[in-house]
Amino acid sequence: MLRRAAALTALLLLAACGREQPRTVVLDPRTGHAAVQPPAPVPAPAPAIVAPPTAAPPIAEAPAAPSAPPPADAPAVPPEPAQAQSSAEGAALLAARRPMLPVEGVPPSALRDNYQQGRGARKHEAIDIMAARGTRVFAVDDGKLVKLFHSVPGGITAYQFDPQGRLAYYYAHLDRYADGLKEGMALRRGDLIGYVGSTGNAAAEAPHLHFAVFLLGPEKQWWKGEPVNPFQALRSGDAAQAAR
Ligand SMILES: [Zn+2]
Repeated sequence: MLRRAAALTALLLLAACGREQPRTVVLDPRTGHAAVQPPAPVPAPAPAIVAPPTAAPPIAEAPAAPSAPPPADAPAVPPEPAQAQSSAEGAALLAARRPMLPVEGVPPSALRDNYQQGRGARKHEAIDIMAARGTRVFAVDDGKLVKLFHSVPGGITAYQFDPQGRLAYYYAHLDRYADGLKEGMALRRGDLIGYVGSTGNAAAEAPHLHFAVFLLGPEKQWWKGEPVNPFQALRSGDAAQAAR
């Protein structure tokens, strides 16, 4: 019995996000290809300036610039595939925000640091918080809800910025959104965002919240930034306030 449970758990954990090539997938800004169905409003979701008027970073931006709005179908894309290290600057900012635990009833001690795990050819660059389907998911911080997005890997997802617009918080595999959730709305820490699920490429038997944080660049594009490992901040933050 025990053995079977343990085996099942291991299997589920392996399956969880196992096929998730999450945010990186296909995001070629030139082709705009991504196997995604954007939500209703298609046009430019650009939360800010898209084409840097200055001679900014010629790197990622160049091809996207011409007239094309940022790919509406872009899931959050960490910059360099090879980049496995969490952004130190982002980590410091995040720690200062004292984020609360986003999943109801999950104590800090239950968190697992699976940020560095492999997911296919990539690093996970997020943490998975296992919980029963339908468990409430809360905003970890104050700040604007910048994007509600359906992606193939992430399923039903939400992107929130911190109050200064330096960090983005990404909540994925939601079962559904909270009633009344709207892009652009101001969130308070602890506000209900949605419910744990397995949408996207999460294993149906292993519902969980895939939670990622990234440090935004100057353009503040919701789909793009340097990944930050949220494990320590969640573990030591205001976890006590988690469920309310
Ligand atoms: Zn995940």
